[in-house]
Amino acid sequence: MHRGTTEFVCDQCGNRFMDVDLEFMATSLSVPRQCPQCGSWHTMPSGILSMLRKSSYRRIWKSMDNQSEHEK
Ligand SMILES: [Zn+2]
Repeated sequence: MHRGTTEFVCDQCGNRFMDVDLEFMATSLSVPRQCPQCGSWHTMPSGILSMLRKSSYRRIWKSMDNQSEHEK
């Protein structure tokens, strides 16, 4: 589901950027977007709610890393 745009923060380089906010598998989490600065997918929406869910985002990042491993 498309929820407009939101500010994301990159866990790798700390860059903040605006990108589309997409629902992650019908949860309240957002699909990580690629950081335009360092190219990392380890990003999440900025804000206190996302901070509280950082462990959930870490799991998403790990599964995304595993997927890109399979593509090699
Ligand atoms: Zn970055």
